Amino acid sequence: MKEDPETRSRIMRAVKGQNTTPELVVRRLVFASGYRYRLHRKDLPGKPDLVFPRLRKIIFVHGCFWHAHTCARGARIPQNNRQYWVQKIQRNAIRDRKNRAALKKLGWEVHIIWECELKDVGKLQSGIGRFLKKC
Ligand SMILES: [Zn+2]
Repeated sequence: MKEDPETRSRIMRAVKGQNTTPELVVRRLVFASGYRYRLHRKDLPGKPDLVFPRLRKIIFVHGCFWHAHTCARGARIPQNNRQYWVQKIQRNAIRDRKNRAALKKLGWEVHIIWECELKDVGKLQSGIGRFLKKC
């Protein structure tokens, strides 16, 4: 069976967890602000979501649950298999910290956008603008 591009990209999303909605929202905002970026550069620690090579800056878009954000959504752990989820999410958080440290060492400036920040698009956009503008 031949897959059309849409089906294929839907599958890719499901499999790799990339191109999720929060990430698309951020990309659109960044693009609309006039910045151009590369996506998921595999040669960088943590395959950053948005990479700005010339500015030497990186934006990650993190889901609050998967990346252990200190917000209400991040604290909501399923009751079933609680131990499993706690460990899995802690591993993610440790990996995130390692990746950030590695990127910093390589001279990249890193900005994290949390899923819950997407509730206030105006604030989100000005935050992105401040991060990308400052030298
Ligand atoms: Zn959050």
